[in-house]
Amino acid sequence: MDSSNEQSDLNHTRGRVVIFSGPSGVGKTTVLTRLFADCKRPLKMSVSATTRLKRDGETEGTSYHYLTSQEFEKHRDAGDFLEFVEVFGLGHWYGTLKSTVREGLDQGKWVILEIDVEGAQKVLVHYPEAITIFVHPGSAQELERRLRGRGTESEEDLQRRLEVATKELDASASYQHVIINHSVEQTAADICQILESAE
Ligand code: 5GP
Repeated sequence: MDSSNEQSDLNHTRGRVVIFSGPSGVGKTTVLTRLFADCKRPLKMSVSATTRLKRDGETEGTSYHYLTSQEFEKHRDAGDFLEFVEVFGLGHWYGTLKSTVREGLDQGKWVILEIDVEGAQKVLVHYPEAITIFVHPGSAQELERRLRGRGTESEEDLQRRLEVATKELDASASYQHVIINHSVEQTAADICQILESAE
């Protein structure tokens, strides 16, 4: 990775990198939609690349850039990713494109990376001044209830997501801010306050 360029982004006074994590099913997407509607900071989502299939209701270029495994590998080999992870160990890859983050920072945006805990550690190596926020379900049982209620995964996928979630909840302690998502409005308001009071 060409860390020299990422290092120069650090000195960029206008934009910020915001790492936003939380286990699958905790309600991150709903919270983010609310945050974008209410928060005064110039927010911009970093649209990740993934090899997983598009779900109903998702849009290419907004939810993700949906790539074939070959396309993903091509970007990986070209060094286009800031970080990439096989998030659930089921053969689906997810990655943050360096160009997306750089463009956002250059536009003075607060670039939100909705990524897993492993990806977050990798991003922090290049952007140590990033703001880190973890959205927590309160308990593993509550998460299972929400994930089952969403009904978008097969039982195998769901079990895998729950296993990964347990590890993610343990890793939440390394985040600067941990917010328990009792209500979307309150969680979005808390995050907005964190962002608006950050320098
Ligand atoms: P989903 O398949 O439900 O959209 O996302 C599953 C998980 O992948 C989420 O926890 C999300 O934060 C994570 N994720 C999405 N994009 C990226 C990425 O670019 N990099 C990493 N490391 N994780 C990602």
